[in-house]
Amino acid sequence: MLMTIRFDGRVAIVTGAGAGLGRAHAHLLAAHGAKVVVNDPGGSVDGKGGDGAAADKVVAEITAAGGEAVANYASVSDREGAASIVQTAIDAFGKIDIVVNNAGILRDKSFVKMTLEEFEIVLNVHLLGTVYVTKAAWPHLLEQKYGRVVFTSSGSGLVGSYGQSNYGAAKTGMMGLMNNLKFEGAKSNIKVNMISPVAGTRMTEGIIEQKLFDLSKPEQVSPAVAWLSSEECDVNGEIVAAGAGYFTVLKLMKGKGHVVDPSHVATLEDFVNNKDKIFDLSEAKPYNSTLDDETKKFLGLM
Ligand code: NAD
Repeated sequence: MLMTIRFDGRVAIVTGAGAGLGRAHAHLLAAHGAKVVVNDPGGSVDGKGGDGAAADKVVAEITAAGGEAVANYASVSDREGAASIVQTAIDAFGKIDIVVNNAGILRDKSFVKMTLEEFEIVLNVHLLGTVYVTKAAWPHLLEQKYGRVVFTSSGSGLVGSYGQSNYGAAKTGMMGLMNNLKFEGAKSNIKVNMISPVAGTRMTEGIIEQKLFDLSKPEQVSPAVAWLSSEECDVNGEIVAAGAGYFTVLKLMKGKGHVVDPSHVATLEDFVNNKDKIFDLSEAKPYNSTLDDETKKFLGLM
């Protein structure tokens, strides 16, 4: 028999759930029994304009399908707005268990042409928006000793792309946030993980090739988000790539490296002469600690 997962009794927030990926995540969570706060202020892909129609539509869809959902129209980049999203969950459903940080905008331009305002606006929605919503939910999660938090990163940050320095910085900044929160929440059964999706949405229309666009329905990403949001999730601080039915874990790697003879302070020549060993990845392993046991042994510390 195929296994599935239920979210009965669980309350989830999905930010930016009025369209694209967020809408698909909200639908899947609700279909499996979660009560969902559908957050979305509406607006265009660059974050301008908007009203509550997008969030209302998704709430109506979920309700029509027999699920439970309420709308919230706040912008995640507004501190009070972000707090109101968590408050909506408490007011409507009495608690919060799952926070899916998904809201996002684009202001693409080469770095030389990008204004600092364009840089800040994108950081504010993706990175600070994720901070504000997660920070508002965090005390509730700590108190009830349970929580699942999902961030939405991007290959545009994790490996980079052209003309998205603001977006890439925000999407990789989340990784640092996750890497710290995974420790701070661990004792309270709070797991913080991240996805790196690919999906055919208005954000990628005309950007990714049409064949991939057609294949990459947003619904193809949501199973990863739902599992990371579930009680069954047994990973913390991981990045899962998802799109077009393909799922895989992503990791930073650490090469074997090279240790300079400890009898002298490393020189520039030491670096230059060992450059090939320093950049060699043939014996690379997942990078989980700067001073892991192998490195300590290398340095004669154990
Ligand atoms: P989308 O434009 O369809 O959806 C984004 C949603 O976020 C919209 O409904 C929008 O109204 C909402 N939003 C924008 N600003 C907001 C704010 N300040 N507060 C709350 N909601 C806000 O795009 P999408 O492709 O579904 O993107 C969803 C997330 O996935 C984004 O974070 C995006 O960066 C990320 N992502 C998408 C892809 C992809 O291939 N589509 C790839 C990598 C990452």
